[in-house]
Order: sequence, then C-alpha cells, then structure tokens
Amino acid sequence: MKIIMLGAPGAGKGTQAKMIAEKYSVPHVSTGDIFRANIKEGTELGKEVKSYMDQGLLVPDELTVRILLDRVSREDCKNGYILDGFPRTIPQAEVLEQELAKREEAIDFAIDVEVPDEEIIGRMTGRRACAGCGATYHVVHIPPRQEGICDACGKELILRDDDKLETVKKRLAVYHEQTQPLIEFYTEKGILRTIDGTAPMQEVFTVIETILGE
Ligand code: AMP
Repeated sequence: MKIIMLGAPGAGKGTQAKMIAEKYSVPHVSTGDIFRANIKEGTELGKEVKSYMDQGLLVPDELTVRILLDRVSREDCKNGYILDGFPRTIPQAEVLEQELAKREEAIDFAIDVEVPDEEIIGRMTGRRACAGCGATYHVVHIPPRQEGICDACGKELILRDDDKLETVKKRLAVYHEQTQPLIEFYTEKGILRTIDGTAPMQEVFTVIETILGE
C-alpha cells in the first residue's frame, strides 16, 4: 500500500497519516519530520533547509527528492508507506512516479484532506508549544490547565515561528500556488480521493478506512 496525503499545512494530514500507518502497518514518512530531525541534530542537511522552513518556503525539489527517495528505498518501506508532506510540487510528483515506474510500482491513492483557509489559520495560530518538553496545546481546543504553562513540565508555552500569522499565510499561499496543482495531477491519474478534514479526527479516519478497505 502506497499512499500520498495531500492537503494544506494544518489540515490534519499528519495525524491521519500516523493513524493509517498504525492500522495498516506501513511506515509514516514525513519530509517535514526528516528535516526537523536534521535541524535538531545540527546536520549539514539541517543547516541547508532551516532558512527555507523558517520563512514558510519550500525546500528545493532536488534536495527534497533525494532525501525522500533515500528514505523509501529502505527495507521497512518494501511493503508500502504513507507519504505525508511529499510531493508538494509537480516536479516532485513526476520524479516519484518515474522512480516507482522503474520498479513497476505505483501510488495507490492520493488522499486530499480539505479544510478552508480560515479554519487552518485558526488552528495554527492557536497552537502553543512547550519550550521545554515540546508538548503541544491549542488556546481554544486543548488549553493547558494554567494559561501559558505546560501541564507536563511547567515550562513556558510559546507560539512557534512557523505558527505565526504571517508565516501561516505565507505557507497557505505557497500551498495554493505550488501544491494544489497536484490535485488535478492525481485526479487525472484516477487515484485522488477527497475528504472533508473539518470533521472530528476519528470521523475523518473512518472515511479513510472506507477508501483503503479493512
Ligand atoms: P511539514 O511538516 O510537512 O508542514 O513541513 C515543514 C516544512 O518543511 C515545509 O514548510 C517546507 O519548508 C519543508 N518541506 C517539507 N516537505 C517538503 C517538500 N516535499 N518539498 C519542499 N519542502 C518541504
């Protein structure tokens, strides 16, 4: 099973990708997670991608494709994977398709999790992260017991740079311009499935289960 999760940043595709990965026993592959881990470890790759990410811009295709192809060629991906945050541009999708075709493989479904921009903005700008342990909250949906303080470790909660209004708006603009064309790309291939991402998390997952089968 090879699945692509499409949708704007903050649409909840990462959460759904993790649930799919668990139920169907395939790895959850997130290029954003790979990049963040490299930034944290201070690797060369991390240094290269940080400024793009901080500005809400996409990391260049060539670099992103190289990292992704390396990841999916590992042993744990031989029975499939869920791609979360890749592809994000038509050239990325084309390279992925060509590489899979060489092995007589193909993506089974591209699942588009749809959420209106206004809701994305509310979800992301309301997020707060603990400066200490990294636990995440939302000022409306998952408030901490004491405002601005982490329930788990008592440290201060912060608004991350990539959740600031200006960055969220920039990321949405980048999404509409560079990633949304993939919806047509996968519609033409006959593998796009669109779902309503505004429903509660478990309901969204039930719809995905119907698409993927038991
Ligand atoms: P994400 O966690 O998927 O929202 O990704 C966080 C950031 O990593 C994005 O805003 C981009 O800067 C970068 N990134 C992740 N995946 C890709 C990709 N497929 N192509 C280009 N940049 C990416």
